[in-house]
Amino acid sequence: MTTVAFLGLGAIGRPMAARLAAAPDISLAVWNRTAERARTFASETGARQAVTPADAARGADVVLTCFPVSADVDAVLDGDDGLLAGLARGALLVDCTSGDPATSRRIAARLAERGVGFLDAPVSGGTIGAEQGTLTVMVGGDAALLERARPVLETFGKKIVHCGAVGAGDALKAVNNALLAIHVWSTAEGLAALAKAGVSADVALDVINASSGRSNASMNLFPERVLTRAFPRTFRLALLDKDIGIAAGVAREQKVPAPVLQLTADLFRMAHNALGEEADHVEAVKVVEEWAGVRIGQ
Ligand code: NDP
Repeated sequence: MTTVAFLGLGAIGRPMAARLAAAPDISLAVWNRTAERARTFASETGARQAVTPADAARGADVVLTCFPVSADVDAVLDGDDGLLAGLARGALLVDCTSGDPATSRRIAARLAERGVGFLDAPVSGGTIGAEQGTLTVMVGGDAALLERARPVLETFGKKIVHCGAVGAGDALKAVNNALLAIHVWSTAEGLAALAKAGVSADVALDVINASSGRSNASMNLFPERVLTRAFPRTFRLALLDKDIGIAAGVAREQKVPAPVLQLTADLFRMAHNALGEEADHVEAVKVVEEWAGVRIGQ
């Protein structure tokens, strides 16, 4: 039996934790900042509700965190109730936050002083992928630690990839999400122009999705979320804004000229400011529509 703790029952964390709770060989404790969410989760799944991060970590072989940003992970380490107070020597912290490499490296160094291992392990595949256990997990850190964590990660991950040293998973995840953002924004610009030129979005997507301009945005997000005007809230625009900022920062740090990444970071920062904290990432399309004075789809 592996003892696991999961902290951060948000949009993606909750279904990931549900997969862990359902695994027969895992004993799970959960903690969430808003305790009510953890209480509901515990009563639905049989997991133990921990009262503090320290309580969650006590006795755990593997502790997983899934917060908005790396600074949130850093912040739960300290204090009498913090993770460090509960993590035993030899335990492992696996951070599934889409974090920033520099903070992850700092956290790893602090944990190493206490004999605790650290992996950055952000995920992709969305909330449905989490429910179905088909996430991709991008792991940075010691390869031997990943092998220890692998059975735990396999409860929600299908493709688990060792990307390099601590921070490598974060960097790759940020670049992936920057590409997602570029596809969403550029597809919206193209479809808005075509709509004004008299080509409907249905026809445009039918052709693009059989041609070389297709992407996950054109194949899935636009048909399912934009043309239907459903815009379900699965991944907050605020979080995608954060990810592109990290990607642009990685490029700057590596002295790689990246004008497209920087422009996309600026556009999504603006969309985030315009649409607020709770808007979904695909709603950025609404900013393009407003500028163009046209609606894509119905
Ligand atoms: P949500 O905003 O839905 O949930 C955030 C979670 O973190 C909540 O449990 C929240 O607690 C908790 N939290 C927020 N701030 C703090 C804090 N300062 N201290 C402790 N806990 C805190 O985010 P998601 O679940 O969507 O995303 C989590 C991470 O996963 C992000 O880094 C995101 O980029 C990434 N991600 C998300 C995907 C998605 O499809 N949603 C896909 C892939 C990656 P509370 O309940 O109290 O608000």
